[in-house]
Amino acid sequence: MSTGTPTGRPTPVRSSEPVPFLDISGATNDVAEEIRAGWDELLRNGQYVGGKAVAAFEKEWAEYCGTEFAVGVANGTDALHLAIRALGIGPGDEVIVPANTFVATAEAVVLAGAVPRFADVDDGTLLLTPETIKAAVTPATKAVAVVHLYGQLPDMTAITQICDELGLVLIEDAAQAQGATWNGRKAGSFGKVGCFSFYPGKNLGAFGDAGAVVTSDAGLTQLMLSVRDHGRMQSEGGHYSHGVLGMNSRLDGVQAVVLSAKLRHLDGWNQQRRALMATYRELIDPARAKLVEQLEDGEGVHHLAVVQVDQRDRVRELLQERGIGTGIHYPVPCHVMGPYEQYADGPLPVAEAAAARQLSLPMFPHLSQDDARRVAEGLNEVLAELDR
Ligand SMILES: *Cc1c(COP(=O)(O)O)cnc(C)c1O
Repeated sequence: MSTGTPTGRPTPVRSSEPVPFLDISGATNDVAEEIRAGWDELLRNGQYVGGKAVAAFEKEWAEYCGTEFAVGVANGTDALHLAIRALGIGPGDEVIVPANTFVATAEAVVLAGAVPRFADVDDGTLLLTPETIKAAVTPATKAVAVVHLYGQLPDMTAITQICDELGLVLIEDAAQAQGATWNGRKAGSFGKVGCFSFYPGKNLGAFGDAGAVVTSDAGLTQLMLSVRDHGRMQSEGGHYSHGVLGMNSRLDGVQAVVLSAKLRHLDGWNQQRRALMATYRELIDPARAKLVEQLEDGEGVHHLAVVQVDQRDRVRELLQERGIGTGIHYPVPCHVMGPYEQYADGPLPVAEAAAARQLSLPMFPHLSQDDARRVAEGLNEVLAELDR
């Protein structure tokens, strides 16, 4: 379609430019000025750990999620670990965790002294289902850590009902789902606690490590505020009064300024991700690549755009040759990893098959629709070629 410049030289062919798997520089540019202003204020007030900026972000984040409270912590793994400990879950207790997740979900359970019990996932959504949860329940089960992997929620209507029926605590690992909803309700607001990571690449990402726990339980919030700060009493004069075993997992003002600035863009960025996902859904050949399914009552925020394909590693190489970057989330299910296989009690066929087939396509708000089309077409061509 290019007709050349007035000098007669051909215009660069756009399709030769590489498409990265992830590029967060566009999002950074959107907020850079606001962040500089926020950091100037921080340099004046000197409140680097905790302080005004952290309190402001915690308030905004709880409001956004539709919960009463948010407790800022150092990262997403700590959010899970701290919440599990504050819930009184520890040695002798089991927490159900999907086998197809980032390792941190299982890691946090073990760090809290409890036992992860791995459950299989659905082949369409690659998420926990009411059935796979039920199959993993034992008399020692205290909680379910539901993971909204790739930015989509599983059937929260059925899962909250099961937890109520069986008396299990619902913990949400919403690290990939900032702003995702189920029946209009936000991720993080269904469980007793909702745990978030704000690692730079997440939908809401800091300029370093950061995390938060949201909840509407005032007592639990007080306990978490204390545990994240060496178990200190949070009342006046409590600085040297360490009433519970704590840890150091505080959110710093430098990151809180970034998070508050980015939060104002989150819905718009998520909308961009949805539009890109719609393009993938429209163009990718469903006979050769199975895009992760979105349940009807959910609205995803597509942290990742995952397809299942045959010969995944070969597909990945061929896409790379065409300049299209991809990722794998995740190549090894948790229950077969070194530190966790001791907790596995049998194969989990869907998670194991998916680990060999899943491929994450480029997905970030500033990816252009043109590039998404090139990715979809490139994928279709590569798959057709391998089919021959
Ligand atoms: C990123 C992530 C975490 C851990 O977050 P960190 O901030 O890296 O500790 C936990 N669970 C899931 C599903 C994640 O994607």
